[in-house]
Amino acid sequence: MFGRQKDSANEGRHGNSPTKRPWRLSAKLLIASSIATVIGFSAICANVMFDMRRGEEELARQTLENLASGIDADVGRNIELYDLSLRAVANNLVLPEISKVSREVRHLILFDHAATARHFGVIQVFDAQGKLTIDAASLDPAPEDRSAEEYFTIHRDRADVGLYMSRPMQHRGSSSIVLSRRISDIDGAFLGVVAGSIRFSYFQDLVGRLSIGPGDTITVLRSDRTVIMRQPFNPDIIGTNLSERRNWSASSLKEGGSYAGAGPVDAIPRLYVRSSSTNLFFVVVGRPIASVLKMWHREAIRIGIIMTVLILFVAGTTLFLAREIGRRAAAEDRLEELATTDPLTGLKNRRRFDEEIDIEWRRALRDRTQVAVLMIDADHFKSYNDTFGHQAGDQVLVGIAICISDTVRRAGDCPARYGGEEFAVMLPGLSAVQAFDVAETIRMKVGRWSDEPDGTTVSIGVASMTPSAATNWSDLIEAADRALYAAKANGRNQSVVAALPKLALVA
Ligand code: GH3
Ligand code: MG
Ligand code: MG
Repeated sequence: MFGRQKDSANEGRHGNSPTKRPWRLSAKLLIASSIATVIGFSAICANVMFDMRRGEEELARQTLENLASGIDADVGRNIELYDLSLRAVANNLVLPEISKVSREVRHLILFDHAATARHFGVIQVFDAQGKLTIDAASLDPAPEDRSAEEYFTIHRDRADVGLYMSRPMQHRGSSSIVLSRRISDIDGAFLGVVAGSIRFSYFQDLVGRLSIGPGDTITVLRSDRTVIMRQPFNPDIIGTNLSERRNWSASSLKEGGSYAGAGPVDAIPRLYVRSSSTNLFFVVVGRPIASVLKMWHREAIRIGIIMTVLILFVAGTTLFLAREIGRRAAAEDRLEELATTDPLTGLKNRRRFDEEIDIEWRRALRDRTQVAVLMIDADHFKSYNDTFGHQAGDQVLVGIAICISDTVRRAGDCPARYGGEEFAVMLPGLSAVQAFDVAETIRMKVGRWSDEPDGTTVSIGVASMTPSAATNWSDLIEAADRALYAAKANGRNQSVVAALPKLALVA
């Protein structure tokens, strides 16, 4: 019974709670600001990490670009040099004077020293039938027939090829690419082909001089994407045409561009950079994406760990503080409850009653509704105490409180212990007649509860008012008080409604 009474007391308090809850709001605010901070920091970190990654990729791209164009330039220079020799032979051969000199002199005129460099093969001249006629290495060469070779037939069939670069092939005993030019007379008629070769040893020597990382690839390709040379060396790849590979689209790597992903040879994802191409060939340099981002990965893991620790710390601290704030709020609630509850009866005390009637009065003023008050006082309580003792008197007060809170159960109703053996009940929205009924119910309950000859009875003063700008809730209390005294004067154990003329005057 006592517990239920306390519950209803709490209900009323929460309904009209005049106190604010700064702490509970702060706990939410703390959690929200922590989450916002963590999200903000994470976003900044992620942004920095992505910028770093882009920087690493850009740096690798530039390095690979430099490497590709360096190789491209070296190969290009050597081919150009060799081509100069081929051109000289092709041009000089058709001079009319050349047929008039001896074979030895013709040799000296046709072949310069460039063509005898370390990795260059011997320059040879073939006639229109593909038969070897002049060989830079010998005045009296062994017969050779190259009429079936592509580097011969292409010039025989077409006059506009210029310098031709063959597929990688075995040429005079060593792996080489053959470079050839057409020899035409003044009218453009086909006289034969001048051909020479660049040995693979040149490319091996070239890439051997470069310091490249493990997993890096260097590929020299003919313009039709036939692989001329690849580092790491792979004989199965040399001579194949990569544009025919299904698993890789040749359009992925445009002239002077870059591409990240799996290449045509193996599945390792690499960053590939292609040199700005010359007519005959281009160079592609690849570096595994894992090595490009190795440093970045290490940094990302480091920052990730720091961030995780930081986030865990912030989350832990926030939860701890939020829990502390919650505890404080609960403790404050308990304190507030203790401060506003009558310890004997569990009803609200006078301080709380005054706060609630103040709120209700202003609400009723806005809404133009009534507010009723009952002032309840135990009859002859002094003599009861004197007869049965103070503790028995206390029990009676608890009983009266139970009768009151049992009757007054609507949300917004406010029963309170107003003084020693005096109770007050606020009943929002009730007229004097309705409040009188409530008062009588309480009085009857008290009467029934202590149904003895010397049992306790109560006298009740009832008042109801519609607030106006000129009145105050203390006027209502006063009116109820006066009605209570009238009930006492009338013989006690009764409810009296405040006299209407008087009320009208007060109002
Ligand atoms: P009446 O109101 O009918 O005129 O007579 P009364 O005897 O009740 O009036 P009075 O105001 O003279 O006495 C009030 C008494 O109530 C005085 C005191 O002994 C008793 N009282 C006040 N507070 C408490 C309390 O907390 N416990 C107990 N047991 N008695 C209290
Ligand atoms: Mg009294
Ligand atoms: Mg009394």
